[in-house]
Amino acid sequence: MIPAQFDYVAAESTAHALALLAEHGDDAKLLAGGHSLLPMMKLRLAQPEVLIDIGGLAELAGVSTDGGELVVGATTRHADLAASELVRAEAPLLAYAASQVGDPQIRHRGTIGGSLSHADPAADLPMALVALGGSVELQGPGGSRTVSADDFFQGFFETAMQPDELLTAVRVPRRPGVPWGYQKFVRRANDWAIVGVAAVDGRIALANMGPKPLRAMAAEAALAGGASAAEAARHAADGTSPGDDMHADREYRRHLARVLTRRALEHETG
Ligand SMILES: Cc1cc2nc3c(=O)[nH]c(=O)nc-3n(C[C@H](O)[C@H](O)[C@H](O)COP(=O)(O)OP(=O)(O)OC[C@H]3O[C@@H](n4cnc5c(N)ncnc54)[C@H](O)[C@@H]3O)c2cc1C
Repeated sequence: MIPAQFDYVAAESTAHALALLAEHGDDAKLLAGGHSLLPMMKLRLAQPEVLIDIGGLAELAGVSTDGGELVVGATTRHADLAASELVRAEAPLLAYAASQVGDPQIRHRGTIGGSLSHADPAADLPMALVALGGSVELQGPGGSRTVSADDFFQGFFETAMQPDELLTAVRVPRRPGVPWGYQKFVRRANDWAIVGVAAVDGRIALANMGPKPLRAMAAEAALAGGASAAEAARHAADGTSPGDDMHADREYRRHLARVLTRRALEHETG
């Protein structure tokens, strides 16, 4: 499992990274924590000729507030997100989701920008962003734009980001004190979710129940109509299209979505 040969450039700034992306086009890939890209390269599912390393860019890391929103820089590591007092106070679901990613080594290298850009439908942070009704900031040659989480994730490992754009920051509404629930069903500690559910303030997001993180719209509508958590949860799998693999078949995943949604709505975590 040795990657194809590639060149490596450490970007000195966001502007430098964007210039390198423009120069190398489709031959280049951004490198953040490397915990999704390098496995893909070792399997030769990705063969970039140039890696542009943004993992060390301090200007893209850290957490701050902007009015009613929490702003998280793209190269913020999962471990720093999970430990941040600000995130734990203002968007505790996001901090908890970061604490659920893989194991300590992965959480100390992997970044929120890398996880969202990679857009694995089983991943923790994309589901959390959808549940929180957050958005991402993208920067490209034409300037910056903000894309809501609902629009950003488009399909299986597919996002609305263009190859010459860079995800610079993540925004989520500040929600201190709002009840939330997070459920991740795994066979072993540190695994990816067989099914995941994140719920906050009437929004419910599902991981691994389709090609991208999904909203459980029927369950949300039932809740909005006054249904109890148990009644709403019965609709959690409506409209989903889960996969069938060695970990779980489709019907079992649908069952899990219903059970985990009830637990998440009852604001149980873990
Ligand atoms: C053994 C193992 C277990 C894991 N378990 C889990 C888990 O339980 N839950 C979970 O959610 N994840 C899990 N992960 C994935 C982990 O969270 C990764 O850190 C994450 O998916 C990718 O982040 P990264 O910073 O490592 O990105 P990289 O691997 O560096 O990059 C991933 C992709 O995103 C692009 N990219 C990176 N940053 C940007 C940016 N700012 N703008 C535009 N494009 C960008 C890269 O070009 C690449 O295509 C696991 C990974 C491993 C290896």
